[in-house]
Amino acid sequence: MEQEAVLDLFRQSGALLEGHFRLSSGLHSDRYLQSALVLQYGEFAEALGHALAERTRHLQPTVVLSPALGGIVIGQEVGRALGVRAIFAERQEKTLLLRRGFSLDASDRVLIVEDVITTGGSTRETAVVAEAAGALVAGAAAIIDRGSDPARLALPLQALVRLEVPTYQPDSCPLCAKGIALVKPGSRAS
Ligand SMILES: [Zn+2]
Repeated sequence: MEQEAVLDLFRQSGALLEGHFRLSSGLHSDRYLQSALVLQYGEFAEALGHALAERTRHLQPTVVLSPALGGIVIGQEVGRALGVRAIFAERQEKTLLLRRGFSLDASDRVLIVEDVITTGGSTRETAVVAEAAGALVAGAAAIIDRGSDPARLALPLQALVRLEVPTYQPDSCPLCAKGIALVKPGSRAS
């Protein structure tokens, strides 16, 4: 699946907005990404899961592990396409853990799957969960890589799209300077 085809699915489902946005971090940006909106459509989720499975099958994963909540839906689809189980890690207090009876052991080759990788920090944290259980982490996959740091990730990463979106401090935002109306995503009536 080509990068533009993936972005088209995002645009069609309103998961990639272009304009002038105030992000939850307080920074401004000309694009806003909400992958849950593309994954709400089963056929899109399935197509994205298949595309990631094709790129990661050579790693011979025996299980997909995703961080909750963002990684769960795409993790499920990748696991289904690969024919392996899909589990997730979730946060209790501040620590990411396997709960609900999910387990990994030394016989497992783990593929970490997320919807969007930003810095790679949550990917690395998820890999640590698998390693702590004695499993081998074979690699990581994401629909969108927003500019992760390979050194920080320290894993082979497969992403369908690499999309680095510039962000601006409100007092030096060129979109503000042009007088473009600022939108807080999720707060619009439409
Ligand atoms: Zn602005």
